[in-house]
Amino acid sequence: MGRVNATYNPYDNVLRVVENAAAILGYKEDEYSTLKYPERELKVSIPVAMDNGGIQVFEGFRVQHSTTRGPAKGGVRFHPAVSHDEVKALAAWMTFKCAVVNIPYGGGKGGIICDPRTLSERELHSLTSKYTAAIAPLIGPEQDIPAPDVGTNARVMAWMMDTYGMLKGHTVLSVVTGKPLGLGGIKGRGEATGRGVMITAQNILKKMNRQVAGTTVAVQGMGNVGSVTARLLHEIGMKVVAVSDVSGGVYDPDGLDIPEILAYLSQTRNALLCDYRTDSLIHLTNAELLTLDVTMLVPAALENQINGDNADQIRAEVVLEAANGPTTLEADEILEKREIRLVPDILANAGGVVVSYFEWVQNIQELCWTEEQVNTELRNIMDVAFDEVWESAEANGKTLRMGAYLIAVKRVVEARLGRGIF
Ligand code: NAD
Repeated sequence: MGRVNATYNPYDNVLRVVENAAAILGYKEDEYSTLKYPERELKVSIPVAMDNGGIQVFEGFRVQHSTTRGPAKGGVRFHPAVSHDEVKALAAWMTFKCAVVNIPYGGGKGGIICDPRTLSERELHSLTSKYTAAIAPLIGPEQDIPAPDVGTNARVMAWMMDTYGMLKGHTVLSVVTGKPLGLGGIKGRGEATGRGVMITAQNILKKMNRQVAGTTVAVQGMGNVGSVTARLLHEIGMKVVAVSDVSGGVYDPDGLDIPEILAYLSQTRNALLCDYRTDSLIHLTNAELLTLDVTMLVPAALENQINGDNADQIRAEVVLEAANGPTTLEADEILEKREIRLVPDILANAGGVVVSYFEWVQNIQELCWTEEQVNTELRNIMDVAFDEVWESAEANGKTLRMGAYLIAVKRVVEARLGRGIF
């Protein structure tokens, strides 16, 4: 399937959107130029003693794009296609995401070039601990707070917190978010990103005067984000007709049995949809899933999925970006011309970082929120952000992506100008 290729640089994508937004806002180069450069970038080499007796050296990164509005915040990705430019782009998207939902964070991101599916539990633990020790000078509750992303989960966050605590000599719960419930985690974090996507799906359908019940949807990616999104959309009555993972997808025009698929995928760590079979199912590729005739398409896997090669074949009426950067700028322009509505990543998938923020606050204040409190506050923030983005887009005659960036760039630039150059 389409993936980051030699000519595609996701960081260039970010820069072009920021420049366009700054021009519309009337900023001079001096006023917004700091947004074009990440504040700090660390590259680390991580030697791991492998189960076969050999040593393998992995490459990792931590990038802080901005700490202007607060500590850097952003996930850690374990994936073979991780690159420096990808981490830079992901860090920058975090800056603008936190600004759109108006939480007091900047943006950061980390990653290790590895395939976690091929590593044993012990190797993964060792890799995580050594990576955490290597980036420890940069992270901390007031500096930079990692969280899960592609290939990482609550277990990896527990290992990161443990290593950081070992180095400090005491437990520091607020150094990472997305932790297990018994280790300073917050109720609702596991499903927060998917819940935010679901809330955004309801909001966009309302604006389009469309019923939720029976609306057809295809979800690409069945990880942390895609699986919860598929489950919650199914629960609110949408007809989820296709889902996929790295091995390909499954399709049933009458609607999939999402709980059964999720039960199958949770049986083993490496269960894949290509091995899932029932009588009514059609197996399809990720490329085919993206061009299905559905009302809503939810890319929830990786960047660069909807691009110049396939944007003119997208048949969905609305693209809801649950992944970060799934649509290239070239594709954005094609979708806009074709009047396909796109709800941008920095709004649609912000639920995860919003509940991470609650978790961090909870850890610092040594409080425990109920799941109902978490979900109510999450909905409040997502609804306000959606309305602000919608109004910004309408007022400027722009796409929802540009509407979101106009808000985010303004908030970050105003904070920068307010602080002055030290
Ligand atoms: P994950 O690792 O839990 O799941 C990724 C899914 O994508 C898996 O189903 C995997 O099989 C599939 N996948 C991997 N490589 C693929 C490929 N080449 N083609 C098609 N599918 C592939 O990751 P996640 O945490 O669900 O993250 C998914 C996206 O959502 C990413 O863009 C991530 O940055 C973004 N995101 C995640 C969070 C979060 O809280 N985890 C928050 C906001 C945004």
